[in-house]
Amino acid sequence: MKILKTIAEIKEYIKQFKCKDELIGFVPTMGALHEGHLTLGKEARYECDCLIYSIFINPTQFGPNEDLDKYPRDIGGDLAKLEAIDVDAVFLPDEKMMYPDNYKTYVKVEDIGKILCGKSRIDHFRGVTTIVSKLFNIVECDEAYFGKKDIQQFIIIKKMVEDLNMNVKMISIDTVREEDGLAKSSRNAYLTEEERKAAPIIHKSMIKAKEDLAIHFSPEDLIEDVILLISEEPLAEIEYIELRRSKDLSKVEDLSEEGILLILAAKFGKTRLIDNLLLN
Ligand code: AMP
Repeated sequence: MKILKTIAEIKEYIKQFKCKDELIGFVPTMGALHEGHLTLGKEARYECDCLIYSIFINPTQFGPNEDLDKYPRDIGGDLAKLEAIDVDAVFLPDEKMMYPDNYKTYVKVEDIGKILCGKSRIDHFRGVTTIVSKLFNIVECDEAYFGKKDIQQFIIIKKMVEDLNMNVKMISIDTVREEDGLAKSSRNAYLTEEERKAAPIIHKSMIKAKEDLAIHFSPEDLIEDVILLISEEPLAEIEYIELRRSKDLSKVEDLSEEGILLILAAKFGKTRLIDNLLLN
């Protein structure tokens, strides 16, 4: 497995695949890799001739009071995990390379970047779309793999790819969960023992909402019940719970619609967790 630290190195590396018209698959990550991250690569491995991961903790997607400094880091462990799933190359740029002094350009998808997580994390998605555009330009991938756990991120990047005529096929992969239903996340490591025990209430409530979809009259009625269920867990502090259309995150008006996504964010102590489930 090649470890490539500069843009020049990766540009040189991909030439061998580009000249043979071979398919490059790409998985961008921020490291502290778990089974969720690895599943993306395992899927890509079937499809692609060359599989590239990037590990870069992107500062522009963190707000001033967020966890950039204490975001979990484990480069040694990450590289061993990637080697084990037969990754061809890992791109490990540093901050100065991605954002040199006097950096000025940002990519922003309007409207869908301002709802849900974008309400409390003001410039978060601007940071995400900026770094992903840069990485797509550097890696020149044919296919990019993202997790459905971050469904808003996936839909925003897909819109960017469409609007900016980028030549990348966007592929989304199902959320990998712990046995008790909690979505795997690098941030789960922040949870105290008590908070970790409480956190599966999120998935439990989403499953209940799916089972009970037919007995509810309206989106508001269903949301009310999910709030009640989650509130039974005193350590859970709900930030938002909404029903959105899975194709574009527009508002669901009627429970008879197809593709209804239940999407939420909740805090357990200082740790903010997000999750979503397709209800039909
Ligand atoms: P991150 O390192 O958190 O930026 O995540 C990198 C990629 O892994 C993103 O596309 C995430 O959606 C995806 N991912 C994170 N957690 C999971 C999970 N539990 N299941 C599937 N994909 C995930």
